[in-house]
Amino acid sequence: MTTQQRDLYRILGVERTATDAEIKRAFRKLAQQWHPDVSSDPDADARFKEINEAYQVLSDPERRRTYDTFGEAGLGGAAGAGGFPGFADFGDIFDAFFGGRAGAGPRRGRPAAGSDLRYDLRITFEEAIRGTEKEIEFPVLDRCATCGGSGAKAGATPVTCPQCSGRGEVRTVRDTMLGQMINVTTCPRCRGEGRVVEDPCEACRGEGRTQRDKRLRVTIPAGIDDGHQVRLSGEGEVGPRGGPAGSLYVAVNVAPHRTLRREGTELYYELGLSIAQAALGTRVRIPTVDGEEEIDVKPGTQPGSTIRLRGKGAPHLRRPGARGDLHVLVDVRIPTKMTPRQRELLEEFAAEAGEPVGKGGAAGGIIDRLKDALG
Ligand SMILES: [Zn+2]
Ligand SMILES: [Zn+2]
Repeated sequence: MTTQQRDLYRILGVERTATDAEIKRAFRKLAQQWHPDVSSDPDADARFKEINEAYQVLSDPERRRTYDTFGEAGLGGAAGAGGFPGFADFGDIFDAFFGGRAGAGPRRGRPAAGSDLRYDLRITFEEAIRGTEKEIEFPVLDRCATCGGSGAKAGATPVTCPQCSGRGEVRTVRDTMLGQMINVTTCPRCRGEGRVVEDPCEACRGEGRTQRDKRLRVTIPAGIDDGHQVRLSGEGEVGPRGGPAGSLYVAVNVAPHRTLRREGTELYYELGLSIAQAALGTRVRIPTVDGEEEIDVKPGTQPGSTIRLRGKGAPHLRRPGARGDLHVLVDVRIPTKMTPRQRELLEEFAAEAGEPVGKGGAAGGIIDRLKDALG
């Protein structure tokens, strides 16, 4: 493969910290500039394709995170090989050329919806297992209290836009080398809403929304895992002049546990045993999410074997009451330091079995023999 590692952020000319809005804006600008129907540059085709590929990844929070962590290789190689499943969302292309989304958004006199917001919430391992409630506070564009969201000064009401007669869009016909091009653009006067405010509210300058800090109690369900999102519809930014609110996505980040490892609903704990404990059996205390618990280790327990504690894992998110298991993975530790007495006893143990040990042993020392025997 001669595929080079590309920097998708550089392709769009944005910082790695760019917001979704900045990425979208950069894409729109570049798509307009490099569209093969518009640009006469011989590289336009390739550039346009590259811009599209970068935008496909960076406009999708999930894929952007994967790219940030693993590069294009993390995206299954499709990006690097140029084999993207398709171009950017038709609406975005449409948006880039006509300044309004196809079939959605603020066309035909409908107020635009507000943006979705994302809130990163860090919780402990135990909170993720048991579920929790958190109070969060974040800045948001909320409905203007003075005008109730209309954007009009008290007593005034928005009127039908004189430029587009309330349609929210204007059409212009342009002659180009390729023929006539009908350009449908969002009405610049009313920004597609079909209505204009002649006498704007002073508190929001006619926007119908103002910035404020919002407090919310968020219920995090038991069994949530790192990377999950909780969606609170209608808790995002409100749209301008009475537009509906977007969603708030609470992205959950779960702190790792000191000794337990989690994979979905299954938990894993590594239990270290001495050779005597593994051979003779014992009773040990192990950590679980419900506190410490005593378990029996049977005589003759082998390294690499698993003791399974049913129902001691993480709760299933979609099956209330059901829980995964806790898997105790047995590791047998071979002593590297011994007292003279311990050494003597081990040598006796070997002699009893007729096993040659130490430097004189034909098959190596007892430690090696034990390692062999224990796998
Ligand atoms: Zn207002
Ligand atoms: Zn208008």
